[in-house]
Amino acid sequence: MENRKLLFRSTNGNSPAVSFEQALLKGLAPDGGLYMPDEIPGFTPEEILEFSNMEYHEIALAVGRKFLTGEIPEEDLKRIVMDAYDYQVPLEKVYDNQFVMRLDQGPTASFKDFAARMMGRLMQYFLNRNNGKLLILTATSGDTGSAIANAFYGLDNVEVLVLFPEKEVTARQRKQMTTLGKNVSIVALDGKFDDCQALVKQAFGDSDLDYLNLSSANSINIGRLIPQTMYYFYSFAQLRSGDIDEQVVFSVPSGNFGDLCGGLIAKNMGLPVKKFVVATNENDEYPKFVKSGFYEKLVPSRNCISSAMNVGHPSNIPRLVQLYGGNMDENGTISNAPDMDLIRKDMYAVSINDSETEAMISDAYKEHGLLLEPHGSVGWAGLQRYIKDEDVSKEQLCISLETAHPAKFPEKIREILSFDPELPPSLHGLEEKEEVYGHLPTGYQAFKEFLKKSYSK
Ligand SMILES: *Cc1c(COP(=O)(O)O)cnc(C)c1O
Repeated sequence: MENRKLLFRSTNGNSPAVSFEQALLKGLAPDGGLYMPDEIPGFTPEEILEFSNMEYHEIALAVGRKFLTGEIPEEDLKRIVMDAYDYQVPLEKVYDNQFVMRLDQGPTASFKDFAARMMGRLMQYFLNRNNGKLLILTATSGDTGSAIANAFYGLDNVEVLVLFPEKEVTARQRKQMTTLGKNVSIVALDGKFDDCQALVKQAFGDSDLDYLNLSSANSINIGRLIPQTMYYFYSFAQLRSGDIDEQVVFSVPSGNFGDLCGGLIAKNMGLPVKKFVVATNENDEYPKFVKSGFYEKLVPSRNCISSAMNVGHPSNIPRLVQLYGGNMDENGTISNAPDMDLIRKDMYAVSINDSETEAMISDAYKEHGLLLEPHGSVGWAGLQRYIKDEDVSKEQLCISLETAHPAKFPEKIREILSFDPELPPSLHGLEEKEEVYGHLPTGYQAFKEFLKKSYSK
């Protein structure tokens, strides 16, 4: 299959198979399903061993190439990954053979930068080739909007419009979006995140607006999933002992399960993962499903301090179910059960409540000098639970993902540890920059008028 283009199919199975380019620019399949490659490409153990001598962008190229052969020439893909991944991926030793991978060094200090930056560059690449244009419309409760806005900032052929609920976003999160300018526009709504989401959905369904070429950049886009396989390969390559039979445990703090699906795809590509610790906050529908085999979404979702993981029905679950031989539609209805025994063999799913999350921020710092924010704390606490529960040996390599920088949550850190986390370079100078953003009411008509006025053909 080396030179054959991969095809991408909907998890609902009722849409035609498409190329990567089409799947990327469309986002969601017409039947409401999620695109997945019709075959998962693989590496040999020897090829994976070779990754130990490679830098991040070289591994990103090796992984990306497997999915994009025939779609993008090697040289162009190389330029894209070098440009997207120009920041560090620190691997911090905590104790024994346990590490924290810090995915928080990108421009918005969240792991979403990994996916958004590559997706933005890929979209621009295809649009340039076809003389196409897109208007990316995104609703955000905080992190997604800033990662998307930053990733698309300054790109030609793409305009970005982010809607956010004025009262539900922290000042720092807002400034990460509103101080950019150029092709990025930001609008505050006097409402809730759900109101923003509703306007975006209505605009997508409005044929009067077809001429705008609206596209979404949310977490179901296949262009965000593929970049999320790369750091699993990278961290293992960096930390493995060199024994070809060595296996690794990853702990993944999970909300919409895009990050976890990236890891599962990496495993399917040949990465020797012994176990994924799937750590959720109090939105525990997945740990319950793993236990009982019965899936029930949580409506409404529960509000926890790890706010980016407050998801009661993870949008990537149909992909996970498909990877284990089953079928689930976008509403969470399972028509064909996945292999639950295999799911239980591969994953240890655990729910960590807010008081455990806070206690772990304190303990990790006091015992190991490890500074975590709420999302990373859920992951780390999940890993500690697994190690205890299954009596994991001291030699076992374990890597827990830290998905945001502690400086994004200064109030929480101050409350628990009584100091202010140091700002990463990417957040320096934000306070002084000028903010520009508009305001709209929550009704659709005003929003539609605004779109028509602001964006012409
Ligand atoms: C989005 C997000 C997550 C959850 O990732 P999913 O891919 O949605 O599971 C975890 N931590 C942070 C900081 C995030 O922004």
